[in-house]
Amino acid sequence: MEDTIVALKIFNTLTRRLETFTPGGVSKERIEDYPPVTIYSCGPTVYSFAHIGNFRTFVFNDFLRRYLKFRGFTVNHAMNITDVDDKTIAGALKEGLTLREYTDKYTNIFFEDCKTLNIEPVEHYPRATESIDAMIDIIAHLDKKGLIYEKDGSIYFSIAKFHRYGRLSNVTSMDIKAGARYDADEYSKEDVRDFALWKAPKDNEPYWDTPFGKGRPGWHIECSAMVRKIFGTTIDIHTGGVDLIFPHHENEIAQSEAAYDEPFVRYWIHVEHLLVEGSKMSKSLGNFFTLRDLLDKGYSPRAIRYLLLTAHYRKQLNFTFDGLNQAAQALLRIDNLLARLNDIKHEATPNQQVIDRCNAFLTSFTETVDDDLNIAGGIGIFFDFIHDINTMIDANTISTSDTAYIVDILKKIDMVFGFIFFPEISAINKEEIESLIEERNKARKEKNFAKADSIRKELLEKGIIIQDTKEGTRWIVKS
Ligand code: AMP
Ligand code: ZN
Repeated sequence: MEDTIVALKIFNTLTRRLETFTPGGVSKERIEDYPPVTIYSCGPTVYSFAHIGNFRTFVFNDFLRRYLKFRGFTVNHAMNITDVDDKTIAGALKEGLTLREYTDKYTNIFFEDCKTLNIEPVEHYPRATESIDAMIDIIAHLDKKGLIYEKDGSIYFSIAKFHRYGRLSNVTSMDIKAGARYDADEYSKEDVRDFALWKAPKDNEPYWDTPFGKGRPGWHIECSAMVRKIFGTTIDIHTGGVDLIFPHHENEIAQSEAAYDEPFVRYWIHVEHLLVEGSKMSKSLGNFFTLRDLLDKGYSPRAIRYLLLTAHYRKQLNFTFDGLNQAAQALLRIDNLLARLNDIKHEATPNQQVIDRCNAFLTSFTETVDDDLNIAGGIGIFFDFIHDINTMIDANTISTSDTAYIVDILKKIDMVFGFIFFPEISAINKEEIESLIEERNKARKEKNFAKADSIRKELLEKGIIIQDTKEGTRWIVKS
């Protein structure tokens, strides 16, 4: 992009303000002068299939990294795999597998689902069970400062000794005291607010030997340890769903900042929840969907990705089947544009109007999304652009030299979207398709609808969708 002055603004949960994004904390003149943006996203607990609510957050993480790259930054992104907690341990016991076998199964399923949704792999996927050393290091630092205590074989963080506690979530110690049990932790502790850094071993549970005794990690320390292990110092962005602000992220800040005396994270970004038909997703309401449930119902991964992406991340997104059908319709508009561009055969010199319209689109898209990652607005601008290109095609002002330019713009914008489908026309036998379409049109003229229908089906089996339009029959490649 020509204009490299950073105007990206992000709402920081920590300060509750929209802030200019400055990776590394020091302003630079050009985007390419910034160090790689360091990002840590709380990843899945691998005890089951992730549901589409989880995928709202994971698709957002993907959009965030894609947009930063689109803007010219490089990214260094980690997403952890939580492979030891109450649920993974219980699941492995139930299925008679080792913890590693059990969590490997769901980790692989998670990676497959990410691929299906066209979520880019990130640079690091640390596993909690492979980061025990880094956890021991944090506990040792906290111990030296007198911030921890032991009770019944477990190690706790003493929140009363960390004065900044509550800055992220705005939860005060009074709120916590009043609100009975906020942590599902079964172990005893001196103060209801304290949380376990390290848990005493129990029968039938995996444990690690440490200088503090045998046991297994508490959940919160896992993320602090993986951030430290991978990045070594303050990171730029930490993401997760809003449910993680308290206590998970509040506790991450407490133990990391208390241990290493430096800021933990510059920008905290939290994604609002996905609701289903207006209610909280729950197994008992029967509105709990995994990605595979939706694929089994015949919905395409592209439509699911599109739907999860379209709402602003700080607004709740109400998932409905109507919404999913509308998403599929919206994608069809994009597919149709590509089919129309592909149909253009006449040659001419490039049309300056097309170039101007493309550049204006990129500029207003960037200005809009720079404002707190407003992808909903960006997609609106994209459909205005599609409308205008269609109008130019109607007016016959687009030639083959323009179509190449437009397709390049679409490819560029798809670095961010990841839901545009570029059919490999060359791999398809166009002549065969066109002769079948001609045969079908002939059959229709002769009112031989059975034959026309069977040709339509034959084409569909080849992955070709037929559309009868005012301008004649058009075909598009099924995505
Ligand atoms: P988990 O596997 O439960 O640790 O969750 C993985 C990620 O999904 C976390 O960042 C959660 O905050 C997020 N998450 C959980 N439920 C929802 C939901 N309904 N909508 C959006 N994100 C969610
Ligand atoms: Zn986490």
